[in-house]
Formats: sequence, structure tokens, C-alpha cells
Amino acid sequence: MSLNALVPIVAAVFCFEIASIFAVLYLKVGRRPPYLVFTGMALMLSLMTMASFLTAWHQRQPSELFWLRMQYAAAAGAFTLFLHFSALVTGEPFRRSTTWLTYLFGGALMALSTTDLFLRPATAPSGWVFEAGRLYLVMAPLMMSVAFLAWLRLMLAARRRHQQTFAPIEAHLPTILFGSGLVIFAGGVVVAIVIFFPAVKLPVSPHSLAAVVFCMLTAVALAKELLRSESEKLRLAQLVHFRDQAVRDLAHDLKNPLAGVQTTMSVLLSDIVDESTRQEMLTICGETCTRLMRLLNNMLDTARLEAGRELELRPEKLDVAALAQHVVNAQRLTSTDHSVTLSADLPRTTYTLDGDKVYQVLTNLVHNAIKYSPEGGHVKVEVAEADGQVRFAVADEGIGMTPSQVERLFRAFERVIDPERRITGTGIGLHMVKRLVEFMGGRIAVDSVAGHGSTFTVWLPEVA
Ligand code: ADP
Repeated sequence: MSLNALVPIVAAVFCFEIASIFAVLYLKVGRRPPYLVFTGMALMLSLMTMASFLTAWHQRQPSELFWLRMQYAAAAGAFTLFLHFSALVTGEPFRRSTTWLTYLFGGALMALSTTDLFLRPATAPSGWVFEAGRLYLVMAPLMMSVAFLAWLRLMLAARRRHQQTFAPIEAHLPTILFGSGLVIFAGGVVVAIVIFFPAVKLPVSPHSLAAVVFCMLTAVALAKELLRSESEKLRLAQLVHFRDQAVRDLAHDLKNPLAGVQTTMSVLLSDIVDESTRQEMLTICGETCTRLMRLLNNMLDTARLEAGRELELRPEKLDVAALAQHVVNAQRLTSTDHSVTLSADLPRTTYTLDGDKVYQVLTNLVHNAIKYSPEGGHVKVEVAEADGQVRFAVADEGIGMTPSQVERLFRAFERVIDPERRITGTGIGLHMVKRLVEFMGGRIAVDSVAGHGSTFTVWLPEVA
């Protein structure tokens, strides 16, 4: 069998596959008209190339004319569907009456393609041949020009990202359009040859070759999209999982301290405690409330930022070392297994910064340093000035993180910790820290070795 016959059959199979993929998209992803129209278009192209194969099969026999006519009828159908498709995808759909007219015209063209007006039998010294009819001479170039203009409009719309109805594979539209452009161009070549060089017999059907390329490009685009949507699905599933876990952990984080406050209150109310114990219990209650406030502030600020509302910067003359000392003192009380030390090396006492936010950032970092050192250990807090900015470093000797864990660290609701460790948390503290630091014009860096500990460093410029 000649190559001339093989190429169209390959194209027919490919086009049929593309048609079935778009049919599945229509049925499973969304009942969007462009999918349906594109399914029809790919089916027509499949028919067209199949007819092209049968034409080559029946070379120099009267049935060649029949298949050739079928080929052009399918081409007219593909052309009609392409016009509708381009209108749908550019986001400027036809009015209902225009759609009907387009299909009426396309249907008539398909019917006429099977008559002598389009292609007619003729005889030549070599035997039986065909020649282009009057309608072919007018319609074929006109169709190719209109298809080319519609394609150009689509290309421009794709560049301006105008198209709205092709969402799932929208990003790959230019690739698909490049392929369909190729089919239109090849169709134009065939028409030009039939009209101007009727004696030329092409060794390989150009529009079948173009259809193969078109299908390959479309298939690659679809495969890429499938991969992207699968990984997106996985990411969403993970996010949902993390959120569920965060809600559970949050309930746990709120319930335990609240239960403690409740018990302490009932003891205090029972009047059976002496004054010094009363003071101690009240102090513990106060610290618990501070912890709860820290948690709720993080949640509220995250919700605020996620809702697109900006935070407010409230600069003040801040004694940075005193603030760090305050944080360290408060956090020391939360654990007896850890030693928390502070070293401050600052040329000045005060810096113009937003005190509340600095407090929140530092509290989160020191709190994590203690929390993620479950075996106890030393937490070192350093405050210094570096390049005119205030630099805070919080170092621990805890569980540390792997480089891939560090990468995911600052995402909201992302808990990179091994679930076996059973350290509760919500995964929003560091996300909030990063956003606060960036909001203050600073930056944060992490240096961590799994099993050995982590150092979080924050640089904050003064507010002008
Ligand atoms: P949470 O502590 O509530 O889970 P964070 O946003 O504060 O949330 O932290 C995110 C994740 O980063 C934690 O779940 C933990 O796995 C990791 N992490 C944070 N700080 C440290 C640290 N000092 N050492 C090791 N891992 C840490």
C-alpha cells in the first residue's frame, strides 16, 4: 500500500481519538458547547481523511469520485463547525439566527459537494479522471479564505486571552490553533493545486499530513492538561486534608487550655486556696489566655489577609531588646525542659517598628523552637543590627527539617511535620509570620538540618 493511502488512515484514526476525547470532556468535565462542536469538527476531519484513504484505494476507478466527493462534503462540515467553534471560543458567540444560518449554509454545501457542480467526472487519454466543477472554483477558495479569517480571529483572541468557554484546556489553545491553522493551510494548498494545476497528482495528501500533526499537537496539549489537573487535584486533596487536620488540631489547642482555665476557676471560686496559690493560679490563667489570644490573632490575621484586606502598620519607637526579653520570659514559662536564652547586640536602644507585629513574629518563632524540640534543649534568641536593619535569629536543637520540608514551610495550613510525631498545630503560624515580615518590608530565611535543629532569621527595616 502506498504512503498516499497510509497517511490518511493514520490521520483518520488520530482525528477519531481526538473526537472521542472531546466527547468525554463534554460528558464528564462540563457540557460546554465548544467541546461538542470540537468533537463534531474532529469527527468530520476523521471522515474527511478516511474518505481520502478510500479515494487513494480506488485510484482511477469511478468510485474514486464518490469518495472524493465525500471528502469534500466532510471538509465542508468541518469548515462549518470550525466557524461556529471560533465564534464560541472567542467569547463572541453567534446569535441563534446566525448559528442556524451557518449550519443551513454548511448543510447545503455538504449536499452540493456530492454533485457534479462540485466535482465532475471527466475522461482523459490515460483513462478515467475528474475535474473541478463551477461551484468548486467559487466555493473552495471562498471557504478556505473564510476559514483562514476565522482562524486568525481565534489566534488573536487566544493571544488577548479573550476566550471564556474553553476553560480546562484554555492554556493550550494556541497549540491547538496552530494545528488547526496547519489543516486550513494544507486545505488551501489542495484547493490551489486542484484549481491551478489540475494535472498534478500529489504523492501524499497534504491535509491528511496536517491532520496528523494537528491531532498530535492536540493530544500533547490534552495530555499536559490532564497531568496539570491531576496534580492540582492532588494538591487540593492535600489542602483539604491539612485543613481538616488543622481544624482538629485547633480544637485541641483551644480545648486543653480552656479546660485548664475552667478547672482553675472552679478551684479559685471554691475559696479553699491560700493567697499565694491564688496568685499563682491567676498568673497561669493569664498566661493561658495570652496563648489563646496568640492563636486567635494568628487565625484572624490569616483570615483577614486571605480575604484580601490589608493590615495596618503602626510604627512606634521600640526598645527591641526589651521586647525580645519579654517574649523570651513569656515563652520560658511554657516549658521546663528547655533553656531559652537571649543575647542582644544593638548599637541603639530604640528602633521605629510595629511593636505588635514584631511581638507576634518573635512569639511564633520562639514558640515553634520550643514545640519542635520535643526532647528539650537550648533555644537561642539573638537580636542584632545588620546593614541598618534589625536582625532576629531564633535557633533550636530540635527535630529540624529536610530541604523539601523547608520549601513547603510557609504555605497556609501546611504542616510539614511527620504525622507520627503527634505535635499538634494548625500550620498557619509561619505562614502568618512570613506575611507579617513581608508586610513590614523585611524578609525571613530558614536554615535547618533534619535531626539537628533549625534557625529562623528575620531582617526588619525601620519604618521611614
Ligand atoms: P504549626 O506549628 O501550627 O503546625 P507553623 O506554621 O508554625 O504551624 O509551622 C508549620 C510547620 O513548620 C510545622 O508544622 C512544622 O512541621 C514546621 N516547623 C516550624 N517551626 C519549626 C522548627 N523550629 N523546627 C522544625 N520544624 C518546624
